[in-house]
Amino acid sequence: MNYRHVYHAGNFADVVKHAVLALLLEHLKHKDKPFFVLDTHAGIGRYDLASEEARKTAEADGGIGRLWAAPRVPPELEGYLAAVAALNAGSKGAPRWYPGSPLLLRRLLRPHDRLVAVELHPDDAAKLAAEFRRDPQVKVMQMDGYVALKSLLPPQERRGLAVVDPPFEALGEFDRLVTGLGQAHRRWATGIYALWYPIKDMRAVADFRASLNASGIRRILSAELWVETPGDPEIFAGCGIMIVNPPWTVKSSLETVFPFLSAVLARAPGAGWRVAWLVPE
Ligand code: SAM
Repeated sequence: MNYRHVYHAGNFADVVKHAVLALLLEHLKHKDKPFFVLDTHAGIGRYDLASEEARKTAEADGGIGRLWAAPRVPPELEGYLAAVAALNAGSKGAPRWYPGSPLLLRRLLRPHDRLVAVELHPDDAAKLAAEFRRDPQVKVMQMDGYVALKSLLPPQERRGLAVVDPPFEALGEFDRLVTGLGQAHRRWATGIYALWYPIKDMRAVADFRASLNASGIRRILSAELWVETPGDPEIFAGCGIMIVNPPWTVKSSLETVFPFLSAVLARAPGAGWRVAWLVPE
């Protein structure tokens, strides 16, 4: 486990992922009934963009740094940006502190909703546990996220979201995503699932799409954004999120947000986006 998210926090992929997660939670809040959120690969939750590690790559400059400076941001991004602003109260200019998925998700819960945040790395899990130690709505568990996906679902609330955001540092992560989704979906077919994946190796992405297609699971929306022309397997050109059972208004919200984000985050000509059903109803 060499992956350290601090080197990548706030980059274009975090912006895309976190904007989508915030939208999903906003849509879940349209009904009063409580919901449950499982974050299977949570990280440490709070990132210092001024740290030596973050400055070494400066990836946040091309992500949240750009979005922060952008004019005429669509209202659909307000929930996400408010979560970033909340960590940077009183400071001017680009944000220094960046919320990872568990902090973002926590901020968007209502008093009767719950979050379980899972992280395998012992140091990271300890940091995350310290972050939420006095919070009765959040439980932090140090364990394998894919085991959590099998063992913690379905939740008693019967409605909610499971976020799977693995590091993709080892071979076979796309296969683990498909297997993990299949196991979880058999237990909780009505849950919303958000699976994050990188767009680097186009053959791996095509195989992933084919495996999901063959899984028999319906209602899978694919939301993809690339900051330069994809195709070179060595270049992290974009990312996608497969959303299973998206709330019905999410697709049109994404169709507003993605062209905006694509223009703001573009790194080179050839940047683009696509929001489309991989598997419809
Ligand atoms: N979701 C976080 C966010 O958006 O802020 C970022 C997560 S980062 C991409 C992936 C995380 O998964 C790392 O913190 C890594 O330590 C952790 N990890 C790696 N393998 C894991 C596993 N099998 N189960 C749970 N966590 C794992």
